Amino acid sequence: MQRRKFNQHLQHSAIALALSPWLTAVAAPSNKPRHWQNNPFALGVASGRPRADSVVLWTRLVLADEDLLLAGESLAVTVEVFADSKLRRRVYQTEVRTDASRGHSVHVHVRHLQPSTDYWYRFSQSDAQSAVGHTRTAPALNADVRVLRIALSSCQHYEQGQYIAHAEIANQSLDFVLFMGDYIYESSNPQYAIRKHSGEEPKTLAQYRERYEQYKRDPMLQAAHAAHPWVMMWDDHEVVNDYANDQDRQYTDPQQFLLRRAAAYQAYFEHQPVLLGPDPQSPANMRLYDQLSWGKLADVWTLDCRQYRSAQACRDPVRGGARPVMQCDELNDVSRTMLGLEQERWLSKSLSASKRQWKLVAQATQISSTSVPAPVGRSYWNDAWDGYPEARKRLLQTVVDAKLNNVVTLGGDVHCNVAAPLRMEPNNPQSPIVASEFVTTSITSRGLGDKAAALIRESNPDLLHYRSDERGYSLITVTPQEVRCDFRTTKFPAGSEAGLKTQASYVVKNGKAGPQPV
Ligand code: FE
Ligand code: CA
Repeated sequence: MQRRKFNQHLQHSAIALALSPWLTAVAAPSNKPRHWQNNPFALGVASGRPRADSVVLWTRLVLADEDLLLAGESLAVTVEVFADSKLRRRVYQTEVRTDASRGHSVHVHVRHLQPSTDYWYRFSQSDAQSAVGHTRTAPALNADVRVLRIALSSCQHYEQGQYIAHAEIANQSLDFVLFMGDYIYESSNPQYAIRKHSGEEPKTLAQYRERYEQYKRDPMLQAAHAAHPWVMMWDDHEVVNDYANDQDRQYTDPQQFLLRRAAAYQAYFEHQPVLLGPDPQSPANMRLYDQLSWGKLADVWTLDCRQYRSAQACRDPVRGGARPVMQCDELNDVSRTMLGLEQERWLSKSLSASKRQWKLVAQATQISSTSVPAPVGRSYWNDAWDGYPEARKRLLQTVVDAKLNNVVTLGGDVHCNVAAPLRMEPNNPQSPIVASEFVTTSITSRGLGDKAAALIRESNPDLLHYRSDERGYSLITVTPQEVRCDFRTTKFPAGSEAGLKTQASYVVKNGKAGPQPV
């Protein structure tokens, strides 16, 4: 090989490696221009993981029968990034290869971008072109930021409603969407279905891909992805309801369950604007928890509450997983963990060292208590932080020890809007408030019944706001003065009325822990 050519070759491979660690498998390349019979970009586009100088761009090509490739054939996909919405000023262009081993997904980690800057992007392959997406980088680390606007969302059961919350999110002026899990649901509940999942409950990679395909074809979900970068976290339903680490409800042999989990994680990666690590070759144990900074205004942590947790305490020996538990000594076992020791240590170190004004700790479920009186003592929901009280104490003790004020936690999972102070001892008015919690209701997924919700509300004086009857998302507005939460909601099932309204608004004032009603 000539030296120049060799250098070019090296450069090309280095760029491909830097762009996407997962796009390195060797497949027979096909450079023949194709004439597509069907739009391969039918799942839309997305961007995510915004940083001051980088962002991840995503798409996945879907191939109809008429467009099938030869076995092992790869596709070259062009990515273009522009500085203007009219796509006149192109600032970046590259070509990446993808093939069937990664479901024809494309992940491009675009670097060397400007901070606080809008970009537009699109993908193309031969005569096919994707929709145009918009994204925006984070501010420079030392920037004075006046406002950070986030759409906090989770739990979008496809069968249980229309994605009208996403239609509104798409039209909001936002810095990013913070999605805290249950992006797909593996399970069905025909009683509440207004539309149907296609296919069986997914267990294999092919089945999980099919489930994501169905969700990703929704035009309102596509619009929200095309409009803003998303910061992603998963919860249980991306794999299976109530799983914990290597355990499922059926007590499946962990080695066997981990194969299902690996298939689910791979499908997750293939459909989201996220980076793969720590193993660049495999998503089986992919690390999703992360931290990002928003100028001097805020640090944001996104915590993985599924992959590393201890199994739920006092599980039913036949049907495991989540349930209310009482007289359960296991709850108080200090060795039990929600985050796993490594993530817990990482968070505690990073949180304690944070110098930014607001510390936004996004985690997938609810930290404040929802326990209710039982015949003996109280009954606790063992799947949320109530089921991990020692881990919750350690989390809050970190805040106390580091003398942090302005810690606001953001959650999802429970299909309920929650505003609550976080005390070392929940519901004890003598116990100091150390942080503030907002939990968003679900985009579509059905919530707890009215009676159960009312009992929880009256049994937990800390719950300033607790409503499970409506669907939607939460608009989080962060300024130097306050963190404001507007619960944007609609009736169940979502789509049965035209739009969303504000159910309630709360603020956390600078320096004063605990939400207050507006
Ligand atoms: Fe959910
Ligand atoms: Ca969940």
